[in-house]
Amino acid sequence: MEHLGRPRLPQTPAALSRPGIRSGHTPDREPDPATDPATDHIPDPAPAATAPVRARTPGVGAGVPTRRSLLRTGLAVGAAATAALAGDLWAGQGTAAAATVDYPSATWAPASTANYTASNRPTSYPINLVVIHVTQETFADTIRLFQDPAHAACAHYVVRSADGAIDQCVREHDIAWHAGNWDYNTRSIGIEHEGWVDQPSYFTTAMYHASAALTAAICDKYGIPKDRNHIIGHSQVPGTDHTDPGPNWDWVRYMRLVNGT
Ligand SMILES: [Zn+2]
Repeated sequence: MEHLGRPRLPQTPAALSRPGIRSGHTPDREPDPATDPATDHIPDPAPAATAPVRARTPGVGAGVPTRRSLLRTGLAVGAAATAALAGDLWAGQGTAAAATVDYPSATWAPASTANYTASNRPTSYPINLVVIHVTQETFADTIRLFQDPAHAACAHYVVRSADGAIDQCVREHDIAWHAGNWDYNTRSIGIEHEGWVDQPSYFTTAMYHASAALTAAICDKYGIPKDRNHIIGHSQVPGTDHTDPGPNWDWVRYMRLVNGT
């Protein structure tokens, strides 16, 4: 994100649905999702639909459980019990949706589905970039904006300045609209940092450490090299007019933390 006080262009959903309306700006999303034949827009089939249908061999094992089927049943029951227990634990903490985060210490704060493109990365697109942003908003306002279906932008993660707390707003397999460039969006994870590019006091030690640990985990997961060719600032995205994270972001410190050196 980062608007530098520039007036926002009107970004109503109606305007966004008209191809070509964003002339002069690199699209943050596909030109025409309504007619795009890509499977990205087709929701994942329910697990039951993908389960292989097993033909039953007549006369064999009908009613007499084999050792294998008993084992299978036992495992299934065990798994179900574990899942139920986990569900109870999550529900007991009032964070049922927390089970959907990709980064264990993040808190799930889902963005509006109108602000990103559902996908199944890294199958649909490789993930080989991390894009670093500065919000130009407070943490709370950023989460609110991401939940506003008219905002037309969001990032996967938002890191809080004061304590490095991390909210995840979009699943990593989905394509968040954060880079202002569809190609870069398809192959990146976007991380927002609470603060303003001209106020370095927002870039706290807690934030650097928490964000670097997150980026390192993302790089390890997808095999992304931990270098400045793959961990980039929003300002480095071709076609962008954004300047974040700006000159006050300490890249040397950040990259050392990401690399654990
Ligand atoms: Zn940005």
